[in-house]
Amino acid sequence: MKIITTPDRCLREKSEKVRVIDEEIRKVIADMRKLSTDWEADHPYELSAAMAAPQIGVLKRIIIIRDDMEDKKNATFTALINPEVIRAEGKTVTDYEGCLSVPSIYGKVPRASKVKIKAKLEDGTEVRIKATGELARTLLHEIDHLDGILFIDHIKGVKDAFYEMNDNGDLVPVDYEEKIAGNKQLWGEE
Ligand SMILES: [Zn+2]
Repeated sequence: MKIITTPDRCLREKSEKVRVIDEEIRKVIADMRKLSTDWEADHPYELSAAMAAPQIGVLKRIIIIRDDMEDKKNATFTALINPEVIRAEGKTVTDYEGCLSVPSIYGKVPRASKVKIKAKLEDGTEVRIKATGELARTLLHEIDHLDGILFIDHIKGVKDAFYEMNDNGDLVPVDYEEKIAGNKQLWGEE
């Protein structure tokens, strides 16, 4: 089990709904939690906010979301099964996003600032979640993964929207024409 990165085709597929939450599904969730925590241990400046099952090569509609987005020491995650956006509204806000499957590239992505989500918890309970700000952004990013969409798709062609992290953990703009536009690996065209 490992985190897959572009240009892996798995990241571009549509995932299927989970019908029964059984041992196999619980194993997938456990693997996602472990890989998120392991990834974070290797990335001192970054927080692993969430992960979607396709990112470990499993095409099922499962995401995990970190419970505490501020404290690196508190790495517990809630799993959401078959999450669906019921409403995305509020004003569109543009902010930084990164992705475990798009190594070292960050982007300023416009997203709705308020969302309402429907999903199931691991024990089968149906929940509705109202989220704003960073949590709303994270949920939209992860649910996109279940439909084969990456954050970079939302800013394709936007020249000043791409960044990369330098050795000090600062985000610095990258030259679009030179590093992004023709990067077949990044866009999954290889
Ligand atoms: Zn992602």
